[in-house]
Amino acid sequence: MRHHRIPTAFLLATAFVAGVAATASPPPTLKGRAVWASPREAGTTEATVVAYVEQLAKAHVNTLIMELKTSGGIFWPSDRFAPAVVAEYRAFDLPAVLIRECHKRKIAFHVWFFDFAEGANSYVAQQHPEWLALSPDGKPTSAETLRGGPYRMAWMCPARRPGYTDQWLIPLIREFAERYDVDAIHHDYVRYPGDLAPDTYCFCDYCLEEIPKYASYYSTAHPDHPLLGRMDRPHLEAHWETSPKVLPPNWKDYGREMKSRLLLEGSFFPGGNRDLDHFFYEYRVHHVAEFTRQVAEEVRKVKPRMEFSAAVFKNPVQSGRFIGQDWRRFSPWVQYLMPMDYRSHYGGDFETHLDLLAESIQQQKVWARDFPHFWPGVAAYQLYDEEREPLTRMRRLLRNGGKDVAEMQSAFDKVAPRLKTYAPDLHGAIEAYLRDPKDPAEPSAKLDAFLANVPEGYYPPERLTKTLERVRAQDVEGVVIFSSGGITSARLWKAVEEFFGK
Ligand SMILES: [Zn+2]
Repeated sequence: MRHHRIPTAFLLATAFVAGVAATASPPPTLKGRAVWASPREAGTTEATVVAYVEQLAKAHVNTLIMELKTSGGIFWPSDRFAPAVVAEYRAFDLPAVLIRECHKRKIAFHVWFFDFAEGANSYVAQQHPEWLALSPDGKPTSAETLRGGPYRMAWMCPARRPGYTDQWLIPLIREFAERYDVDAIHHDYVRYPGDLAPDTYCFCDYCLEEIPKYASYYSTAHPDHPLLGRMDRPHLEAHWETSPKVLPPNWKDYGREMKSRLLLEGSFFPGGNRDLDHFFYEYRVHHVAEFTRQVAEEVRKVKPRMEFSAAVFKNPVQSGRFIGQDWRRFSPWVQYLMPMDYRSHYGGDFETHLDLLAESIQQQKVWARDFPHFWPGVAAYQLYDEEREPLTRMRRLLRNGGKDVAEMQSAFDKVAPRLKTYAPDLHGAIEAYLRDPKDPAEPSAKLDAFLANVPEGYYPPERLTKTLERVRAQDVEGVVIFSSGGITSARLWKAVEEFFGK
């Protein structure tokens, strides 16, 4: 028997490979490692896009959700929707480059749409004022004020057909799906406005006609028939099955305000419970969910296997009531459910928020059981309110002349130890100013410079890690971080890299 000598170099090579395999880190435990992002983070050249995607890959991000339709316009060089294209993106095809670079690195790309939120001056809001959601006094959301300033968003009516949904939004999404090799369509603002009075929309002409039909408040075949059955039960509302006529005889003479009031505050039975709001909320929930169905069907005509993801509020029972977003009804039409479990959506301090977050995720897992993928979202930047708020307060005080020294002192006390460690120079300048508050210019300039470029460590990365650990401990498939820009400005990439890498 002949013995073949195995070359030493080969033995060494295999030993080396085996050694590497044995010591290499195990694959990341979370299947979904996503970030929400805005186009300015990727820039408008090939080089900036490559650098941006490189950063994502380095941090083990495997899903990028990039907003390419905001309230300000669209970010791809569309011909059909040319007037809505944001200027810098007419010549540079951002999604083409971004998707190519993502796919090279096995990063899935979800295109993020602001569904029903438009800018007050956006092209479509200007061109089609008849598609705007209207309040009982016939005004769009852009006529409202919020926290003392004008409300800049123009919410569109989700229900109206033909209208914004079927004439603008769905064709826009379909064009994107047709044109690009996108892995999923991401819904955001898939709802009614919530930060204004949540009961105020929509009472456009279409909705005033449709709500009574939707809830069978009269019969179109026999519009004047009372449709009452025998009233022989002790409870008034127990006589509902025949769908008795709810609209008053002179409904047609009512103005918008009166009609809206009846639809929101009226009673199904005269003298009964004031329960018509139930049907109003149900109508809104229906139309938001209906949009997710219609858009999926329309997009799948051109891309049969297209998937959908959605950013939603934390409790579908509450968001169904307040903003028409009962996302449990999205389940056949959305595959990736991404609740925005941001710190601002929970009361209490950081630790309390972690407990509430865990509790929320457990509830969501039950509600989300019909969705193939459940990836809760956290907002990185918001975790640092304690470190940031006193700085922005001091900046405001200094810009206003710095006269309110007591207020300055109280803000300073909250961050003084951290400032001493991370910005001794700024710490000294504010301390000097508080001793002798003459010239706010110097501390003000130093504070501006600090806020523009906060040093690594000032925002404690362990707070992000702790939040992400708490999410993962709930046994979820993935997690989404809002946003890559927040990670950059709070200097958290290293923390993300370490967390996603294990
Ligand atoms: Zn409407």
